[in-house]
Amino acid sequence: MPSLFDLSGKRVLVTGASGGIGGAIARGLHGAGAQVVLSGTRTDLLNVLSDELGDGAHVLTAALGVEGAEEKLIKESIDALGSVDILVNNAGITRDMLSMRLSDKDWEEVLDINLSSVFRLCRATVPVMMKNRWGRIINITSIVGITGNAGQANYAASKAGMIGMTKSIAQEVAPRGITANCIAPGFIATAMTEDLSNLIKEKLLGAIPARRLGKPDDIAGAAIYLASEESAYLTGQTLHINGGMAMV
Ligand code: NAP
Repeated sequence: MPSLFDLSGKRVLVTGASGGIGGAIARGLHGAGAQVVLSGTRTDLLNVLSDELGDGAHVLTAALGVEGAEEKLIKESIDALGSVDILVNNAGITRDMLSMRLSDKDWEEVLDINLSSVFRLCRATVPVMMKNRWGRIINITSIVGITGNAGQANYAASKAGMIGMTKSIAQEVAPRGITANCIAPGFIATAMTEDLSNLIKEKLLGAIPARRLGKPDDIAGAAIYLASEESAYLTGQTLHINGGMAMV
């Protein structure tokens, strides 16, 4: 009898696998039995992770947001794995600035990488999942997409857009055994948050009932669940993982 959350035989693409959360998600899904394509731009880091994971890990370097990159990445993932059953859209960037000083370039870059690129990856993967009559799309949004955050109008817009997009795709694909959900992390200790000053970190901790920043593994556990057979009846939802910081 297979154990709960067994991902044996499943084929996964994780974007941003060179980063803190993406690396933890890739480790988690691989540990549950899946074959995983690790994608990002820092090939050296991806290779280190691939060596750590061993069999069933593949590296595909891709700079998302460059014309044609998303379609090429899906095609190469299918070539490497045979198909894609689980798509984890985790790559993301910030370009923080108060709105009145936020440039068009920083607005567009964040929307392009965090939202348009994710749409293109979903669009290129859905036909494959439809054919397989099974699929899981897991989009990494942010608590900031719900609450907003001063200095992050571009980032918050991209992450809020991701939630609406995911709900729409979820409705389109549900009859074919495909789910699409978001995970909304709160503040997780990774490169993205390490630049925060001690003062801001202290303030943050005061606002988090769990009294700690999240760990990438806090997110990986939810990704394993959303990738699994056991989550088949959950779609169009956002799982908030934030130590109680925002109970929405
Ligand atoms: P991170 O360590 O900075 O990782 C970001 C990842 O995105 C890296 O692997 C990076 O790959 C990839 N990436 C960025 N731009 C890319 C591009 N143009 N093409 C390809 N890959 C690109 O940050 P993280 O904290 O793990 O963040 C992962 C996700 O969680 C992001 O979507 C972020 O918005 C979300 N999130 C994080 C937090 C947090 O507190 N940390 C909270 C809420 C949501 P390369 O470096 O190899 O280019």
